[in-house]
Amino acid sequence: MLLILHPDTDESSEEYRKTSEFLRALPNIEIRTHVVQGQQQRLTEIYLLGDTHALDRDEIAALPAVERVVRISEEYRILGRHKDERRLAGFEYNGVTFSQHNLNVMAGLCAVDNPANVETMLRALRDAGQVCTRMGAYKPRTNPYSFQGHGAACLPWVFELAGKYGIRVIAMEVTHESQIEEIDTALEKLGRPTGVMLQIGTRNTQNFELLKAIGRQSTYPALLKRGFGISLNESLNAAEYLATEGNTRVVFCLRGMKTDAGAPHRNMVDFAHVPVLKRLTRMPVCIDPSHSVGSREAAPDRILDLVHATAQGVVAGANLVLVDFHPQPRQALVDGPQALLLDELPRFLDDVALCRETYLQRQRLWGNAAC
Ligand code: PEP
Ligand code: MN
Repeated sequence: MLLILHPDTDESSEEYRKTSEFLRALPNIEIRTHVVQGQQQRLTEIYLLGDTHALDRDEIAALPAVERVVRISEEYRILGRHKDERRLAGFEYNGVTFSQHNLNVMAGLCAVDNPANVETMLRALRDAGQVCTRMGAYKPRTNPYSFQGHGAACLPWVFELAGKYGIRVIAMEVTHESQIEEIDTALEKLGRPTGVMLQIGTRNTQNFELLKAIGRQSTYPALLKRGFGISLNESLNAAEYLATEGNTRVVFCLRGMKTDAGAPHRNMVDFAHVPVLKRLTRMPVCIDPSHSVGSREAAPDRILDLVHATAQGVVAGANLVLVDFHPQPRQALVDGPQALLLDELPRFLDDVALCRETYLQRQRLWGNAAC
């Protein structure tokens, strides 16, 4: 059961004291409190965990600090979308809104290589009006002899350059919790010229200790990749790990499933799950066409499979596109063959905008313009 308190309820108020005294006296019920800081107001949500069936809903709804009671199903209690759900979806981070109602693009390098390529990439993004990017400093590689990323050493110049080009949010994968501290230290030293969304890669979707560590901190939102070989339910439970530890600013990213049936694509594109995720959860939904398709092959219409896959996700309502670009793909230390070229960036963004407009028209066609 979820209790939503009146907006801006003060924890030292008499209403709050009376309410929490009552709740704490409930037998065999665990109480977890989450504070959601919105743009206009602060919302306190109290989760009652355990056997809540015997509780009297009306009695709880009548508690002085309680505005609303929502019965939640067992699955994805915090991030899920439940019956009578009216909780806000999405969040704002460093001036950028991430929600189920809008669309952002995070185009950038799969891996940071050298300052010249990073700067060229960032300049192209600024010129295209973009404020988000992707840049990997810590790379999880299948082969231990492959380039593992520049790690903490590159963070100062990457962040400084990002600030110089007006980038507000960088999706950056972390493979170990110590890297959160490294990112935080580097940003703090520079006076926070940019922001970071902590990416959890598909190989770490069920690295529960990493999830808990990212969940415990509240400075950075998270971008969780779907596990490549587990069920959607398992990946959604992984997202819930972040939330139970306190971090509800989570974007869920589809990146294709590992199966031979996906060949010749790198993975089986799973963007038909965009609407499923919006139905089951309140998380903004990201698609990663680069790691799904994994090549620059094109159809006879001269449109790359990767661009077609992007269109499929955006037309279905995706909220974020994470995509690899590189100014010199041959020089790329990771995933050069799937990188889009800088002169393709404006056309790519135009294509995404066309698809987004089509999605909005489709919503109107089906009579759901308010969603
Ligand atoms: C990436 O986005 O750079 C990446 C490694 O993706 P994934 O975890 O989906 O393979
Ligand atoms: Mn990659």
